[in-house]
Amino acid sequence: MLRRTLRLLILVLVLAVPASPAGEEGQVISVSKSAVDPARLARQGFDLLMEKEGRVYIVAGPGDLAALASGRIPYTIEAPGSLAAGGPALSADGGLNGAFHSALELETDIRTLERDFPGLARVVEIGESLEGRKIWALKISDNASMDEGEPAAIFLGCHHAREWISVEVPFLFGKYLLENYGLSQDVRDLVDGSEIWIVPIVNPDGLEYSIHVYRYWRKNRRANADGTYGVDINRNYGYRWGFDNIGSSGNPGSDLYRGTRPFSEPETAAVRDLFTDHDFRAAISFHSYSQAIMYPWGYTTDPAPGDAGLGAIAATMSGLMAAVNGTVYTYGQASRLLYTTNGDTVDWTYGLRGAPSFTIELPPVDIDGGGFFNDEAAIGAIFGENLPAMLYLARYTLDHPLPGRRRVPLRPAWGRDRLGEGLRFVILKAPVRVR
Ligand SMILES: [Zn+2]
Repeated sequence: MLRRTLRLLILVLVLAVPASPAGEEGQVISVSKSAVDPARLARQGFDLLMEKEGRVYIVAGPGDLAALASGRIPYTIEAPGSLAAGGPALSADGGLNGAFHSALELETDIRTLERDFPGLARVVEIGESLEGRKIWALKISDNASMDEGEPAAIFLGCHHAREWISVEVPFLFGKYLLENYGLSQDVRDLVDGSEIWIVPIVNPDGLEYSIHVYRYWRKNRRANADGTYGVDINRNYGYRWGFDNIGSSGNPGSDLYRGTRPFSEPETAAVRDLFTDHDFRAAISFHSYSQAIMYPWGYTTDPAPGDAGLGAIAATMSGLMAAVNGTVYTYGQASRLLYTTNGDTVDWTYGLRGAPSFTIELPPVDIDGGGFFNDEAAIGAIFGENLPAMLYLARYTLDHPLPGRRRVPLRPAWGRDRLGEGLRFVILKAPVRVR
């Protein structure tokens, strides 16, 4: 009851926030569940927010409204700013994005880390977005400016523009490693023996658009041939790209648009090039919301080779996370836990090298808890509960070295029995086109 009251209170707070400009990009609408099948809407590429009290809430662009109208499906335009436009607790001095990072603020902060921890931190430009923003990585290692060929782990954030919390968790992980290098033998061992690569903002154009124009923006800012904008860059990676039209869409106006070809977008190409140039053995891509740990495959409900090993790692991470604040992250194969996706980041990193790869959907569990709008006061707690999972997975890269090898060949890399401890990854024969 208390929980329900709290949720209602949160929703009331959220509804009371003034509108952010939705412009012509889209708006929140609702349709009666008696008029539509939500699963069918999802397959058609509609951006479903939630179902509540017999209605389905959708972030709808002009094309979506036309499609509903032509299907004679009645819809209600929700009040501007309803369902959490902007979030309840952004501070006045932090601009529209409050305590969350903009692209420029992130660059400033990682450069400060580089300055404060010379030798341990290096800011690396890994690519440039469509609108010319740099895509930055923070590399953390002893002798960070040298390429020592050490095993590496990667932590990615903000493929999806509106998922602001996904920037903060990997950024704070980098800050934590640097600030604790001199204090913790465990951190020192990890940083000395590996390379930790942190890319907090894969999609800077989308993030800026989400901050300044349209809070619900998800994709990058590709100008598509049909006049619509954006490719879903978490559907643009090259493993089983475009496998079907359920896990991604071929319709440019869809929020799940996969692009014209694998790695058509500079944002995904930047991650690809970084990944193939280094010995990455583990990956986490942060998203929100759902509070879940997901592992490949996303494109099919068939289990991936090494499924049991991935599940064991996810279970361990979930347990470590729950021990911090009591927050339970469910876990499982992505396609079974949430929905199928094709062309996503972790199917590719796993398909390419068999590197244990996870999508972590950060809190809240659902839209009633705020959906894409995390209270800035919760950033520290969310980071804190993810920290032991990130340390565990990064450490894993050291505990499971490839004997006698400095670098991992592109594929196949992680052979049978290499991981030990009952975690068996078979060699993947993936039809991966790298470029
Ligand atoms: Zn996402």
